[in-house]
Amino acid sequence: MKILLIEDEVSIRRFLKISLEGATYQVIEASSGAEGLSLAASHQPDAIILDIGLPDTTGFQLISELREWFNRPIVVLTVQDQEEDKVKALDLGADDYLTKPFGVPELLARLRASLRRSQSEHEPSVPVFRSGQFEFDKAAHVVKMNGEEVHLTSTEYDLVAVLVKHAGKVVTHRMLLNAVWGPNSVEHVQYLRVYMGQIRKKLKVNEAHSEIISTEPGVGYRLLIE
Ligand code: CA
Repeated sequence: MKILLIEDEVSIRRFLKISLEGATYQVIEASSGAEGLSLAASHQPDAIILDIGLPDTTGFQLISELREWFNRPIVVLTVQDQEEDKVKALDLGADDYLTKPFGVPELLARLRASLRRSQSEHEPSVPVFRSGQFEFDKAAHVVKMNGEEVHLTSTEYDLVAVLVKHAGKVVTHRMLLNAVWGPNSVEHVQYLRVYMGQIRKKLKVNEAHSEIISTEPGVGYRLLIE
């Protein structure tokens, strides 16, 4: 697997290169947006790791340009407490983000998950999605937890369906609101809090059971893959 790194800071680039090569990825490096764009076109990498703060352009601009023709994973590097950057990157088509400073296990896990998702998008879709105790039967319109049917309202079901469609990936508030309530409701984050709270309660089998949906504060929600 070939990974393109677009990052202007030499020390972070070196750290990423060593970590990725240690996990047998082939690494191509770019230190600016323009170089990154041209290397992406000439090398056709399997995934791109992209820093949001670049000297010649913004990572956001780059995601928009890449997404016109590049459909493999883009993982962005962001700075702590910049929730709006994460949201913007995801809304523009990034697959995931890593917040600096991050460790090697986190980097490799995020990258593996993004690559796996991108490969499974090309496989025929399965009628039943499963993750741990959670089961989502698209054909029968049934959600089960621990083998037992969970009764969801149609709005709750629609929200879960969006998360299942993007399983493993953070879905932003805007993406969820737009998909379920339409483009005029994208600012109504409070709707989501209420509904997601209800969904959480219904999908919790018992106190010891871990959550199937994780909250990414200020960004969105992620359906966890087991
Ligand atoms: Ca930078």
